Amino acid sequence: MLNLTDLIARAQPGDAVLVRSDLNAPLGGSPPSVTDETRLVASLPTLRSLVSAGLRVVLCSHLGRPTGPDPALSLAPVAEKLAGLLAARGAAVPVHFTGGMPTGPDRERLLGEVGPGEVGLLENLRFDPREKGNDPTFADELVSGLQHFVNDAFGTCHRAHASVVGVAERLPACGGLLVERELEVLSDLRGRPARPYWVILGGAKVSDKIGVVERLRDLVDGFVVGGGMANTFLAAKGVRVGGSRVEEGAVELARQLLEHSGEARWVLPVDGVVAAGLDEPEGTVVDLETGEVEGMILDIGPRTIDLAARALHGARTIFWNGPPGVFEKAPFAEGTRSFAELLADHPARVVVGGGDTAAAARRFGIAERVSHVCTGGGAALEYLEGKDLPGLVALEASALRQGPR
Ligand code: AMP
Repeated sequence: MLNLTDLIARAQPGDAVLVRSDLNAPLGGSPPSVTDETRLVASLPTLRSLVSAGLRVVLCSHLGRPTGPDPALSLAPVAEKLAGLLAARGAAVPVHFTGGMPTGPDRERLLGEVGPGEVGLLENLRFDPREKGNDPTFADELVSGLQHFVNDAFGTCHRAHASVVGVAERLPACGGLLVERELEVLSDLRGRPARPYWVILGGAKVSDKIGVVERLRDLVDGFVVGGGMANTFLAAKGVRVGGSRVEEGAVELARQLLEHSGEARWVLPVDGVVAAGLDEPEGTVVDLETGEVEGMILDIGPRTIDLAARALHGARTIFWNGPPGVFEKAPFAEGTRSFAELLADHPARVVVGGGDTAAAARRFGIAERVSHVCTGGGAALEYLEGKDLPGLVALEASALRQGPR
């Protein structure tokens, strides 16, 4: 895969670069504004490099899941926020935005406005259903008049969309700085990380993460499992989990994983915070070995937190994906808070994997205190499973076409 340095070395003054970033930031309020700027901040280093090289940057992203034009999901608030963030970091460049549709006359108008060292943001790619379908006509329209493509949207590299794959087949393409950084961290996690190596898994569903367990079980020293997915593992061990959600179809697989994981140790919950439902004002700690679960297990209990802390002591690499409890609700947030604090102070290389776990890391103020927070949850998991991500495959193919450095 070629990188930004290669592109800048090959570009001619005034060339226009299509940049695919992941600017899918949450919006709130009226008029809408960006409520969490993490993804925007992560996209800045690539934009700054291109702008300071005097290139014309045509930026694009999706936002939310519209199936056609939807003013509530316009990227206008993102353009405004991005301009502010760039200015705050000493790169006060205009971020042009014309709205409308991502291609067609609105795009033409935008291209006319973007000068060298400036940025123009296209409207939400998913306003056009051809984006998700990787439609060749849409990819043609996206690249028209541009000379290079940079994919910096690691979080969407597992999607074969037009702005991820189609455009990389049409322009000389390379990975941006964020994609490079994510790959460096994740390839270490599925390669030869410093050991002891522990993986903490949580979150709602076991089926989303089983592939990661299968792929990593021979590499790791152990797994700590919490959250809704732990119920399926507990059921596989014959522990009664009351009304907690168990993925019946995955119980047998969980049993096999517990039995056939070589040297890897497993830390499963020994106690849990139980309540009748998510809206209960508090839960009760139940010992899962001796007690009766009357309701649902919505967080891990103090003994489990203690067991996990002891297992992780001395670890040199830790990957955390999935909260061990329903941390969005105060009565069930303690397990996630404890893990977050434990990892913030841990001397190991700690990588937090995407989505809800990244949100939890931010909520508990530890995002800056771990080695790396992945911006893409699904993409990170698929990469760790050893799957080929279409966006990365397209970048590799483009590098081959472009020849040696
Ligand atoms: P995932 O996207 O699979 O990582 O799932 C994240 C979600 O799992 C979060 O929204 C949590 O609220 C939820 N979660 C964590 N623990 C549990 C649990 N014990 N029961 C149900 N949901 C949970």
